Amino acid sequence: MKGKICLLNEEGLRIDGRKLDQLRPIKIEVGVLKNADGSAYIEQGKNKIMVAVYGPRELHPRHQALPDRAVLRCRYHMAPFSVPERKSPAPSRREVELSKVIRQALEPALFLEMFPRTSIDVFIEVLQADGGTRCASITAAAVALADAGIPMRDLVAAVAVGKIEGKIALDLNHLEDQYGEADIPVAMMPGLDQITLLQADGLITLDELKEALKLAKNGIMQIYKLQKEALKSKYLESGEELG
Ligand code: UDP
Repeated sequence: MKGKICLLNEEGLRIDGRKLDQLRPIKIEVGVLKNADGSAYIEQGKNKIMVAVYGPRELHPRHQALPDRAVLRCRYHMAPFSVPERKSPAPSRREVELSKVIRQALEPALFLEMFPRTSIDVFIEVLQADGGTRCASITAAAVALADAGIPMRDLVAAVAVGKIEGKIALDLNHLEDQYGEADIPVAMMPGLDQITLLQADGLITLDELKEALKLAKNGIMQIYKLQKEALKSKYLESGEELG
């Protein structure tokens, strides 16, 4: 199926009109769920994702508790209506894998050793998917963890880069992911300049990978700024409400 549709027009613009180095429009809202300890909602292009965080709290089942640190648990779930073909609400292999990958991308940012015997739970609900949902989930989850007041070394921001029609492109949408030559999700703690997730699906040369990582870092810095603005605006609003 690959290579069957035209992903770049004659002017070098992508199917949604973006340049190769452009992110999709991103909107992040903080504290959108009153019953969670922390929450965030992200729209990145057509992706719509809600994240709720609970904890640190007593861990059940108790035998999973660790004596020297908190356990971070993540559940990535796609709503049945989130994709064109109805998705079964039962957890798929892909969702189990993405839950693990997302947990591993977030874990380095947390001081888990500060909260022995507890759990920190991250629930991710993908309401609408259009490529790059693991990255948008990580971006929103980091903001939700901060909103829950959980001490963090840094936020984690993520974006996928890839190769479409021989060119390196930032923030692939579903069609680019499906018909492009490579898809590389990257997550970073941008303030610490550390990568916490790097995956690669497809074929890419070493030079292209270096170019892709540079582009990813650039996108991640823009996303990092949006995360911090979203967190600040929530606390400015709460401050105003308190008078
Ligand atoms: N997708 C889909 N049905 C599924 C799973 C995924 O239509 O059951 C689409 C969805 O748009 C998703 C995209 O395929 O965002 C790419 O999925 P991938 O596994 O590469 O993860 P993602 O790019 O979302 O992190």
